[in-house]
Amino acid sequence: MPDTFRKTLFAILLASAGSAATAAPGTLAFVGARIIDGTGAAAIEDAVLVATDGRIVAVGPAASTPVPEGAQRIDVAGKTLIPGLINTHGHVGDVLGLEAGHYDRGNVLRQLGLYARYGVTTVNSLGDDEYEGFEVRNEQNPLYLDHARLLVAGPVLAPETVEQAVRAVNGVADQSVNYVKIRVDDNLGRTAKMAPEIVATIAQESEKRGIPLAVHTYTLADTKATLAAGADLIAHSVRDAEVDDEFMSAMKAADVCYVPTLTRELSTFVYESEPAFFSDPFFLRDADPEVIATLREPERQQRMRDNASAQHYKNNALPMALRNLKTLQDNGVKVAMGTDSGPATRFQGYFEHLEMSMMVEAGLTPMQVLQSATQVAADCLGLNYLGTLEPGKWADVLVLDRNPLEDIANTRSLSQVWIAGNPVPPAP
Ligand SMILES: [Zn+2]
Repeated sequence: MPDTFRKTLFAILLASAGSAATAAPGTLAFVGARIIDGTGAAAIEDAVLVATDGRIVAVGPAASTPVPEGAQRIDVAGKTLIPGLINTHGHVGDVLGLEAGHYDRGNVLRQLGLYARYGVTTVNSLGDDEYEGFEVRNEQNPLYLDHARLLVAGPVLAPETVEQAVRAVNGVADQSVNYVKIRVDDNLGRTAKMAPEIVATIAQESEKRGIPLAVHTYTLADTKATLAAGADLIAHSVRDAEVDDEFMSAMKAADVCYVPTLTRELSTFVYESEPAFFSDPFFLRDADPEVIATLREPERQQRMRDNASAQHYKNNALPMALRNLKTLQDNGVKVAMGTDSGPATRFQGYFEHLEMSMMVEAGLTPMQVLQSATQVAADCLGLNYLGTLEPGKWADVLVLDRNPLEDIANTRSLSQVWIAGNPVPPAP
C-alpha cells in the first residue's frame, strides 16, 4: 500500500472516529418527551431518542443523551413516546366496507396503511392471505416502509385426512408462511371439530418445517390438547371454563403465548345498539361513514339482539375471557395483544386501542398492557428487532399527546407514527 494512500485512509478513519457528535445522514432525534420503552421499565422523563437509518442508536434522559449535531430534531416536549403496536392476530386484504371477497393488492396496501395510521406498525395476519399478500410481505423493505409490516399464514388449513394434512402444511411451508393456522373448534356446534390425529399431523409437519403453528380454539379442553400436540400460539381466549394450573403450567413450560382477542367477542354483539365508540373522534377520523350508517340500522341491531350466538358471546364467552386473561397474566403466562381485526365490523387499527382498554378492564395495568402490545408481542412472533425503544431496534415510534400510564385510552391521543424512522403519511 503506498504511503500517501495509507495516510489518507488513516485520516479518514481518524475523522470518523472523532465524529461521534456529528450525525450520520438520516439521523433523527426525538427531543423532550417521556419515553415508555416497552420493556416494563419506568418511564424516562425529558428523554432523547436518536435513530439512524431507521434504527434506534440511543435512548435516555436528555441530560446524558446528546443530540448529534446535524440530526433532524423533532421537538416532542410534553408528549409521550411508545413503541409501535404489534397486533399478533389480524387479517388483511379481504373486506371492503362490510363485504368480504375483495382481496387484492390495493386492498392489502390500503389496510396496512390504515393500521399504520392508528399506530399498529406490525400485523400478523393469521389466515386467508392470498398471492398479493405474500407479494407485499416479500417486498417490504424495512428501510422504506410507510405502512404496517405484514406477516402471513396463507389459507386457514382445514384438511380432512392425515394425507391431506401433510400436503397442506408442506404446501404453505413452501411459500414461507410466517405461521401455519388451523381452527380446531366447532363454531358453537355448527361445524365438525378437527380430528386429533389431523391436529397432531399438522403440528408435527409444521415443526419439521420450522414454522410455528397458531391455533383457533374455544374450549379449555381443546386448547390443552392442541398445546400438547405442539401448538405455538393460542390465537383466542379460552372461553368455556376457568383456566387451571395444569393449563398454565403447560403454557409456561412450552413458552407458548396467549392472544386474548377480546374485541373479537365484542364485535359479535356490540352492534345490537349504538356502540360508545361511534362517538370517539379517534375512531371517526378514519372510519367509513357508510359502514357506520349500516351498523346503525334498527333492523340490523334487532337481529343481533335476537341472535343466540351473539348473546352467548356477550353473556358467557366474553366475561370468561376477561377473567381468564387476568388469571393468566397474574400467573406469568405470556399474553400478546391481538384482536382478530380485519373481518367485517372489526375495525383495523382502532380495535387494537379498544382491545388495550378491555385488557385494562380485565384487571391488567396500563404498563402490562403496553408491554403486551409491544415487547411481549414481538417476542411471541420471534421479531427480535422490534417491540421496544432500545438501541438496535427499528425506530417504530408512536408520539402520544397524553400519558397512557395514567389512562390507557390515552393511546388514542396519537399525533405521529414512525415506522423504521419513516413518517407514516396521512390518509390519501
Ligand atoms: Zn382470526
